[in-house]
Amino acid sequence: MPEQGILPPGSTIGVLGTGQLGRMIAVAAAQLGYKCHVFGPEDRPPAAQVAGAFTQAAFEDEDALEAFAQVVNVVTLEFENVPLSAVAYLAARRPVHPGPRVLEIAQDRALEKEFFNDIGVATAPWAEVDSVESLIGAAPHIGAPAILKSARLGYDGKGQVFIDGETELEEAWREMGADRGVLEGFVPFEREVSVIVARAMDGTVVPYLPVENHHDAGILRRTVVPAPLAEETAVQAEDIAIRAAEELDVVGLLAVEMFVTSDGAVLANEMAPRPHNSGHWTLDAAPTSQFEQLARAVCGLPLGLVDRYADAEMINLIGADAEAWLQYLAEPGAHLHLYEKAEIRPGRKMGHVTRLTPRSD
Ligand code: AMP
Repeated sequence: MPEQGILPPGSTIGVLGTGQLGRMIAVAAAQLGYKCHVFGPEDRPPAAQVAGAFTQAAFEDEDALEAFAQVVNVVTLEFENVPLSAVAYLAARRPVHPGPRVLEIAQDRALEKEFFNDIGVATAPWAEVDSVESLIGAAPHIGAPAILKSARLGYDGKGQVFIDGETELEEAWREMGADRGVLEGFVPFEREVSVIVARAMDGTVVPYLPVENHHDAGILRRTVVPAPLAEETAVQAEDIAIRAAEELDVVGLLAVEMFVTSDGAVLANEMAPRPHNSGHWTLDAAPTSQFEQLARAVCGLPLGLVDRYADAEMINLIGADAEAWLQYLAEPGAHLHLYEKAEIRPGRKMGHVTRLTPRSD
């Protein structure tokens, strides 16, 4: 008999969300002998093409959630904006990792920044704003330039407005298009980095090394592994992610995006309690991918090693970039991953390529 809390191979991991992250979780879980049952509203989504089972239903559909709970042994998720009601419903029936509290914080930029500050992690200066009047009141304290971000449901730079000394705040408020937001000071960063940590049920926590991220119009384009950081800055970035995962009692993964300034300060920007785009390199260049690590953690298994076999560069194939698939396949040292999305659309993540080069150290 397996030890208590350990789900043996053959068990089913329920995954909320059906995008490429769910797809890569299902592939990794299958390799360890686990099944995935994915749940989400979309038609023919990327995860459903490889998972053992797919429920196509709205996250508000309690009958579908009930049936899902009956056939899965544990629940995890591949995007953090799953309605809390669905997570709470499932959490009353099955173990759910990460739990409702982690999600509640990760879904809301104001709660997220408050959480970071409360555990002693610096962020850009920020203020919560819930009306144009409060925006006008906060602006002089935050200064310009600044960014106004919707508090909820923001991803890939959506719901964000850049504000400089000339911006009409009424117009910026309208453009953000939400009834609550966060006004934050613009950080003149030298680099953007992220750290993904995996945390097991017994509290063991392991950080993947910090990587450098390059965004374009708010969308991640390229990740460089490892991030070229001074040793002490790298340690600081890892410590922030470890501390956050421990304080939140995460079981699974936590990705923390950070800004590094020219004087070596590390400021947390946001976090995601799930696999992260900046960790896709781990599929090809690490002994244990982030997706396998998630499957191990939620099934109560020991975590795998997080070192790297090679240096790497991960490029997202966005929209029409994916048309060059044959070229990437023919390139030595390049690993192509495509997500089986039916239609190419501008701004849509269609796949990624990881290029490996010998380790620099
Ligand atoms: P976010 O949705 O918060 O990850 O923001 C998307 C991207 O916008 C980030 O990856 C940064 O490139 C940029 N950005 C966001 N917030 C700030 C900030 N306070 N200062 C400078 N750049 C920012």
